[in-house]
Amino acid sequence: MPEARAPVTAYVALGANLGDAEAAARQALADLARLPGTRVTATSRLYRSAPVEAAGPDFINAVAELSTVLTAPDLLRALQGLERAAGRQRPYRHAPRTLDLDLLLYGAARIDSPRLTVPHPRMWGRAFVLRPLAEIAPARVPAEAQAGVAGQAIELL
Ligand code: AMP
Repeated sequence: MPEARAPVTAYVALGANLGDAEAAARQALADLARLPGTRVTATSRLYRSAPVEAAGPDFINAVAELSTVLTAPDLLRALQGLERAAGRQRPYRHAPRTLDLDLLLYGAARIDSPRLTVPHPRMWGRAFVLRPLAEIAPARVPAEAQAGVAGQAIELL
């Protein structure tokens, strides 16, 4: 029998800004809880933020804490499957994605592969990631990082 893997605490950022973004974010939180070998152990409240490096409507953002026995690459593949599933609900071909899921942290792992970088390389400069992450895992967000994004507009839904 294969050895059981110990669960790892991972953090996933959710963002949605098309269609009913709030519904997409809530659906994604429910979908995360159904991933194999995975429990959602905490979720932040929903936030609204102006697009950074992008145009379009405001984003709805949240962060979920998972306890998972999936490996980091398997978890990334599962997240991409949820993104695709959300995209398939769009009404026209090649419609922009309704859901973005980023793997922020995977235990204490540092991963630098062509497909996966953890900690997520752009998370430290983004209030829409750090605010909800700090809500559920304050110890994972250094005070300097929080101070660095203090000027970015983000509000609780
Ligand atoms: P994006 O368009 O921002 O969702 O980026 C998706 C691409 O980023 C995919 O090709 C992933 O393989 C890659 N990627 C690298 N590191 C990560 C990560 N920590 N979380 C999510 N996607 C990642």
